[in-house]
Amino acid sequence: MRMLIIEDERGLADAIADGLVAEGFVADAAYDGGDGLWRGLHEQYDVIVLDIMLPNISGYEVLKRLRAASVWTPVLMLTAKDGEYDEADALDLGADDYLSKPFSYVVLVARLRALLRRGAPARPAVLTANDLCVDPAGRRCRRGEHDIDLTTREFTLLEYLVRHRDEVVSKTDILTHVWDEHFDGDTNIVEVYVGYLRRKIDAPFGRRTIETVRGAGYRLRGGGGDK
Ligand code: CA
Repeated sequence: MRMLIIEDERGLADAIADGLVAEGFVADAAYDGGDGLWRGLHEQYDVIVLDIMLPNISGYEVLKRLRAASVWTPVLMLTAKDGEYDEADALDLGADDYLSKPFSYVVLVARLRALLRRGAPARPAVLTANDLCVDPAGRRCRRGEHDIDLTTREFTLLEYLVRHRDEVVSKTDILTHVWDEHFDGDTNIVEVYVGYLRRKIDAPFGRRTIETVRGAGYRLRGGGGDK
């Protein structure tokens, strides 16, 4: 899950981004409206955190232009009570949620998770692919009755594959959503991590659910529905 934070107070933007990375998200920060808008238009994000009062282009204008360009990524707006706009305005402006400054980090993460779930209609809180069960909020993974220990990166990769189960996802898609835009190493890192996952979620159970689709990428065989 990839997030964009558009906030001109660099200390705050970086603290939010670092916190989200520690939670297993991929997070980019933009420090002004122009850069934020450009990223929002040209990159794919699952959620955008947007401050209203920004130099260059205001958050209000960023949101308007994103929606005008048919970018429907959920947006959580940060509002200041003494700002030009207040929280009621944020929703009028087309934000999906808002938080007034100063806010608690725990509340911010909870709201972002809620937006992620709401992002696609009826997105389940717990994701499943046959007897594989992935709980993003609890960061737990199970195959049948067996708990599986995953590292943060393995978990993020598995969550991405399960959210796109039965679809072919390319290495580039995976790098974009599981690593970040600054990753400039070898794309073989994806193969390496897919290998780690297979050894944890498939091999011990005699399964082969993560398929390599030659020249295209990977597909996690799902079947079944979500609980
Ligand atoms: Ca600001």
